[in-house]
Order: sequence, then structure tokens, then C-alpha cells
Amino acid sequence: MVRLGENARHVLERRYLLRDEGGQVIETPEAMFRRVAQAVAAAEHPAARALWAERFEARMAALELLPNSPTLMNAGRAHGQLAACFVLPVDDDLAAIFDALKWAALIHQSGGGTGFSFSRLRPRGDVVKTTHGVASGPVSFMRVYDAATEIIKQGGVRRGANMAVLAADHPDVLEFVDAKRAAGLENFNISVSAPDALFHAAARSGGWALRHPRGGAVVREVDAAGLLERIAASAWASGEPGLVFLDRVEAANPTPDLGRFEAVNPCGEQPLLPFEACTLGSVNLARFERGGRVDLERLGACVRDGVRLLDDVLDVNVWPLPQIAEISRRNRKIGLGVMGWADLLVALGIPYDAPEALALAGEVMGFVQREAHAASEALAAERGAFPGFASSAPARSGGRPRRNATVTTIAPTGTLAIIAGCSSGIEPLFALTYVRHALDDAALPEEHPALGRALRAAGAEAALPAVRAAGRARGVAGVPDAVARVFATAHDVTPEAHVRMQAAFQRHVDNGVSKTINLPRTASVEDVACAYRLAFELGCKGITVYRDGSREKQVLVSGATR
Ligand code: UDP
Repeated sequence: MVRLGENARHVLERRYLLRDEGGQVIETPEAMFRRVAQAVAAAEHPAARALWAERFEARMAALELLPNSPTLMNAGRAHGQLAACFVLPVDDDLAAIFDALKWAALIHQSGGGTGFSFSRLRPRGDVVKTTHGVASGPVSFMRVYDAATEIIKQGGVRRGANMAVLAADHPDVLEFVDAKRAAGLENFNISVSAPDALFHAAARSGGWALRHPRGGAVVREVDAAGLLERIAASAWASGEPGLVFLDRVEAANPTPDLGRFEAVNPCGEQPLLPFEACTLGSVNLARFERGGRVDLERLGACVRDGVRLLDDVLDVNVWPLPQIAEISRRNRKIGLGVMGWADLLVALGIPYDAPEALALAGEVMGFVQREAHAASEALAAERGAFPGFASSAPARSGGRPRRNATVTTIAPTGTLAIIAGCSSGIEPLFALTYVRHALDDAALPEEHPALGRALRAAGAEAALPAVRAAGRARGVAGVPDAVARVFATAHDVTPEAHVRMQAAFQRHVDNGVSKTINLPRTASVEDVACAYRLAFELGCKGITVYRDGSREKQVLVSGATR
């Protein structure tokens, strides 16, 4: 029996359920899960198809496991493009720049997001040989991409999302750092890719060479610490850019024989090689609490089904380009992750910022990772290893053959969490009561389901109106300390606790971890720089900060609404 919430039904009706030619919704959420399960199970041996379709449908209907949005939207449809994340190469010539833009348009139309590195483009002011003109630089082309995305979003299944990455030693890096504030670029997230050497240079107050992307000649030198401070100042003011710790990302590259990473997907959790795609899926941890403990046996079974489901998705996906099909079939990357982490902690009575939460993060994600890898190894025994395995890093280090070059990723689960009615990814509760602005215009009021119960159990029901008005429990008069501790929101948790949680999960994830490091409105630029250093020291693959109130339009707005 599907127990979808009101918000879930609303979101599904707006964009996910099938419609007839007149635009009328002709599918129920239950039928959607069946459509997806049957389409995906078509990858199975004919004799086992019905069984797997039933199993996948039951997992989705129980809101235990959901594949990423493009799979829910497009599986079983004519042009079924099912992956959420793509990276496209942008080479330093006009035809290549516009080829990538065309490909991005096609991907956006299908509900996928695109990441690009603009690091190979010659800097602004450089010469253009063919015309004797002057090059306009990476940021100018980002504006073109942004405008095109803006137009395409009218016709696609959801608004296109882009990530622009620029290397920290590109001569235009300072212009890039301020690009969001200077040029708008509404349809972009931006990140500077920072190698370890930048942090080391900053630590010894050294210089940092900006180099021409062709040939590597030093164009000029800046102060390394000054550059990091400029990045932190911009992120303080607007939440962007983020940082990608490129050397950490590259160290985990399973197929270095195919080249180095240079970009990540729009929300940053998925490093990919040029033309690579990744299909994500998330297990709802909140569904695996039993009697005050995590039911590992049931969780393990769900994780194994999740790996199989995502591996099947690879075989039924209609890839948008031959180049993408080729490398995706070679590496078979998938990214299974978790959502509902904060809800699980609430159910277990563990504050998000307590040491026990970090320990449990390691235990739970370590378990998920081991089960996911074992499932991918079992699939390799059944179906063969990913074709690129023989020349891959795991093969060279004597690892067992796997079906997938990567198996785990922690996604933001922006929509999946609404559908499953749980907290997003590994984030703390955003607020205890809030309006969630989803899919452009819908305003969806929410209150944490366990809140009223906890206050009543503590004999503190009288505090409920004040908690509703504040959107949080900590610091509200009349809320017992134990309740306030457990109902930690993103704003209650220190930036350090946010970073430590991201790092605790990253240790058990093949790809990256989607996480926002929330800072209070009163935080300083140095606080941002401090969070950068901690994330770098703890082995995170990147960092995204957000200082409360620094962006006009927030996806989530905390506070009472009813
Ligand atoms: N994504 C996108 N457009 C969106 C939201 C997400 O292209 O409006 C892509 C992007 O690559 C992102 C990935 O989907 O990193 C996963 O996002 P999320 O987990 O929030 O997606 P969901 O499956 O919950 O819709």
C-alpha cells in the first residue's frame, strides 16, 4: 500500500505522472511505480522479469528505494532517458563550444543535468587566430549557455541545471569567482577546482601561478591565500562558488586510463569524465528503523535490490548521444545513496551534532557501501564485470571484478525526499515547519511528523505554537532540552558539525556527497575559509556553503505558514 503524502502527490501530478494529449493526468502514483518497475526489469532474463518487476515495484511503493527523477519520469516512455547526471567536454574552439551547448539542450529536455569544465577555453583578451579578433573568455560563453538553458526550461520536464567548473589556475579565475553576482547565471552552479597545491601554497603564504590553458605559460601570479579568501568572500555573499578538491576526486578515479576528471554534475556529488553519465538512486533510511535500532538485515536487502535496479536502468536507458552511450556502457557507473538520515536520527533520539551521530554515520554508510559493493560483485559474476574493468584502477590493485566502476553517491534528493516524505539526503532537518518551494512555483507547507508527538510525550505541548512560529525547537522557551537537542535544524548545527558529517559519509562513498554547509547570517568570511580548511583536512571531495539570508530566492524558506 502506497502511503504518499499530500506534497508527494502534488509533485508527482505536476511533472511525473503520464498525461494524455490534452494534458490530463492519466496515471496514478501506484501505476507510475509499476510502469517504472516493469520498464527497468525488461533488462532481466525473460524468466525472471516478472519477479524483479514485482520486487522493484514493492520497494518503490513502500518508499524504501527510489531511482532518480529522470527514471521515474521517463522509464517506459518512447525516448526514455533515465540518468540525472552528465558531464560534457568543452574544447577551445567555437564549433566545440556550440556542440556542447546543443548536447546540453537535449539532455536538459530529458530531465538530466550537465556539468562542464570551462578550463580549456583561452582567457578573455587572448587572440583568435582565424579572425585576428579578441577572445571573450569562459564567463562570456557561460552567459550563452545560461540564456539557452533559460529558454529550454519552458519545454522540458524540469528546469535544466548546469555546473561550471574552472581550474584555480585559469587566468580568468577571479572573474569566474564573481560571475554569479556579476552576470546572474541563474541556471548555473559554479565551482572552482582547487588542487591540494593551492592549499599548501596558501598555508605557507606563497604565490599562485595563473597559467595559459594552452601550453601552461605563466600569465601572472596571485597570492594563494588571497585567492582562497576571494572565493570565500564570494561564497559568503552569494553561496557561490563552491570548491571541488580535484586531487581527492582524481585519487578515487576508477578509470584513470580514460583520462582525468575535470568537472562534476550540477549539484556537485558526481565527478564524471567527459561524456560520462550517472544514474542515481536513494534508499530511505527512515524506513529501516525498528524498535530504536537500524534493521541492518532489511537495509542490506534493500541496498542489494537498489544496485540491481540501477544496473538494470543502464541497460534500458535510451542514451542521448552515441559518445555517452559508449562510455556509459563501458564503465556502467551508478550512484546508490541514502536519504532520510535526519529522520532516522530523530527516530533514534540522536542529535545530528552529537558524536554518536558521526559514529552511526560511519557504521550505516560503511554497511551500505559494503553491501552495495558485494551486490555489484555478485552482478559481475552473473553478468560480467564492467567492460573497462581489466584496465581499471581496482583491477590493477587486485580488487574483485565489479559490474560497475562506481557504485555509491549521496545525492541531494531534492524531489525524491518530497516523494518519499523524508528528510533530504544526509542533511539535518531544514526547519521543523516550513514552506518548500518546489518545481518553480508550488508552495508546500510541511511540519515534521514527530514534532507534536515528542513535545506531548515530554509534557511540553504548550510550546508547540512557539516552535511552529520559530520553525525550530532549540532556543524556544518551554521546550525541554532533550527534545530541543534531538530536533536539530540545519541552522542549529555549527558549520563544523556540518562538515564533519559530510566527511563521515564521504569515507564510505565511491563518488561524492551532496551537502550544504549552512552558516548563520552573522558568520564572517573567515568562518567560510575555516570550513574550507576543515573540509580539505577531513578528506571531503568538495564543499558548498550557504550563509543564511545571502540569496534572495531560497529553495526552502523556514518559518511558520499555517
Ligand atoms: N538535477 C537536474 N535538475 C534539477 C534537479 C536535479 O538536472 O532540477 C540533476 C543534477 O545533476 C543533480 C541530480 O539531478 O545533481 C540529483 O539531484 P536530486 O537528487 O535533487 O534529484 P531528484 O532525483 O531528487 O529529483
